[in-house]
Amino acid sequence: MRYDLHTHTFYSACSGQRPETLLKAAIRRGMDGIAVTDHDTMEGSAIIERLVKRHNRKEGTGFGLVKGCEFSTDAGDIIGYFIADAAPLRGVRDPFEVIDRIRAMGGLVALPHPFTVVRKGFGLPLELVAERIHALEGLNGRMMESFPNGMARRAAARHSLAVVGGSDGHFPVEVGRAWTLFPGTGPDDLYGAIRKRQTGIGGTTLFGWIGAPASPFYQLGKRMGIWKAP
Ligand SMILES: [Zn+2]
Ligand SMILES: [Zn+2]
Repeated sequence: MRYDLHTHTFYSACSGQRPETLLKAAIRRGMDGIAVTDHDTMEGSAIIERLVKRHNRKEGTGFGLVKGCEFSTDAGDIIGYFIADAAPLRGVRDPFEVIDRIRAMGGLVALPHPFTVVRKGFGLPLELVAERIHALEGLNGRMMESFPNGMARRAAARHSLAVVGGSDGHFPVEVGRAWTLFPGTGPDDLYGAIRKRQTGIGGTTLFGWIGAPASPFYQLGKRMGIWKAP
């Protein structure tokens, strides 16, 4: 299976895509599923859950959805996969507490773009969290510099962590350009594959060069009221 495990909707300040646009783009690019990982909210995730159910019922398909969230912490971004609600973590900035709470909810913890220098990477030595997390993002589609993805893959191997990949797509052009590979048929298999470190990655960072520079403009436009929530 091929899942893009890092996507954003309009509910992230820096994204301009409606939930239905994200879902359509992922299907068009041949993804078997996605994880929705908006910044500090799961509003978009809840909408996509309804859209995916309707799509699967209509088409008789099994498109997979992993509900997730990219939490902002004092040490950088932390993704929780397979969680139902982001509300209990609202305002929590301590990275250790965020990790523990994701785990307590039954979720899996991944560090996205841990070694980026253009954006904010993970600010703590990996040794401090390696035993409490499950995966490192070894391919982030928005990585403008080429070496941090490789660094993340090597670090994952060193610390016996799974590797995951995703487009970090905030706009349709980016969605489904980077992904996670795993054996099986659906989200439950992905959960097991991450735990057993049986995931692989594929894709390109080329389209991040279009999406990443567009984000600040969107953020500004929203603040100025030019773009409004769907
Ligand atoms: Zn991020
Ligand atoms: Zn992101």
